[in-house]
Amino acid sequence: MKKIENAKIVGKKVIVRCDFNVPMKDNVIQDDTRIVESIKTLKYVISRAKKVIILSHMGRIKKLEDLKENSLLPVCKRLSELLNQNITFCKYDEDINEILSKNDVIMLENTRYFDIDGNKESNNDINLAKYFASFGDIFINDAFGVCHRSAASNCGICEFLPSYMGFLMEKELTNLDLVRNNPKKPFSIILGGSKVSDKIGVISNLIDKADKLIIVGAMAFTFLKAKGLEVGKSLVDIDNIEYAKNLLANYSDKIILPNDIYTAKEFNNKSIKELKKVEDIKKDDIGLDIGPDTIKIINENIQYSKTIFLNGPAGAFEFSNFSYGTKELFRIISQVNANTIIGGGDSAYAAVKFGYKDSFSHISTGGGASLEYLEGKDLPALKYVCE
Ligand code: AMP
Repeated sequence: MKKIENAKIVGKKVIVRCDFNVPMKDNVIQDDTRIVESIKTLKYVISRAKKVIILSHMGRIKKLEDLKENSLLPVCKRLSELLNQNITFCKYDEDINEILSKNDVIMLENTRYFDIDGNKESNNDINLAKYFASFGDIFINDAFGVCHRSAASNCGICEFLPSYMGFLMEKELTNLDLVRNNPKKPFSIILGGSKVSDKIGVISNLIDKADKLIIVGAMAFTFLKAKGLEVGKSLVDIDNIEYAKNLLANYSDKIILPNDIYTAKEFNNKSIKELKKVEDIKKDDIGLDIGPDTIKIINENIQYSKTIFLNGPAGAFEFSNFSYGTKELFRIISQVNANTIIGGGDSAYAAVKFGYKDSFSHISTGGGASLEYLEGKDLPALKYVCE
């Protein structure tokens, strides 16, 4: 690992790539976890470097109007508050070098601004990378959440500057390695959410190392259907029923599926919920959460685990009526004396929302990146900051 402590940043112009791709609604930040997580690296750099240039992407920018919803200005304000530090926000039509000469810490507008013109940021355009690199002497990559993408601001830029990883990147890799490489056993994997396809790579890479694979969320209905059960109008990933059948046939001793489910007749929070055994699901039922008996069985199975990895919510947790399973899973996992690693995306958001922010060994800030890392893939941005 090319650690930040080995970077000679004193008196230098240092570019820090963060992942400030935070959920926004009407320009208001909905969850600032990723900003808070960047503080350690930024404080370290700001206290040593001569100038600090902060880069990040947010959302997608295909046309100029997209910048209204995806400007980094609200992030810049929040970061200034958290750091208690003036940060000057720069747009790309301003004289950035002039601004940098007068200010010590600046944040550039969303790097995906350059996607308007031929996807230059997202396609890792080398001239754009050179342009970003021109503002600094050293590059620190702390944007784990986007490591699986090869962009000008996280890959190409490293061709021009000595590059190191920030503290958040190091924390992510160290913790995810507890799952990826020789996890302490017994090792339990809990997967939920809606898309089986997103998790096939992780299952393939880790199932032989795992003692238990517990499947919850909408994903479970693909497996229950594969077993021949009626799942009504529950979400099913039709394309992966065959995959589920094979997995059940080969790993029947490891796989645990729900045995009770909260169902409703409609996909909303007002619909009356009913607790049913999985064998009793009717054609007009939608399974939206796991029930207490399933939680009891999961709890028994994970009790002695030394490593637990969770990715994906246990139900449609955005509806308060169907958040029981997701909350209960967090509660029981948090009570096990194990390395407890929560994958990013919805599960990370739910863990923070339900008050379990500090209850696990690690909550990843990267959704797709953490899954791809655990699939055993080489993430493009890592090769520049890992030796
Ligand atoms: P994913 O992106 O695959 O991790 O899926 C996350 C989404 O799955 C969340 O928005 C949840 O609301 C949704 N989800 C989880 N369980 C269910 C379910 N039983 N029915 C419908 N959606 C679900």
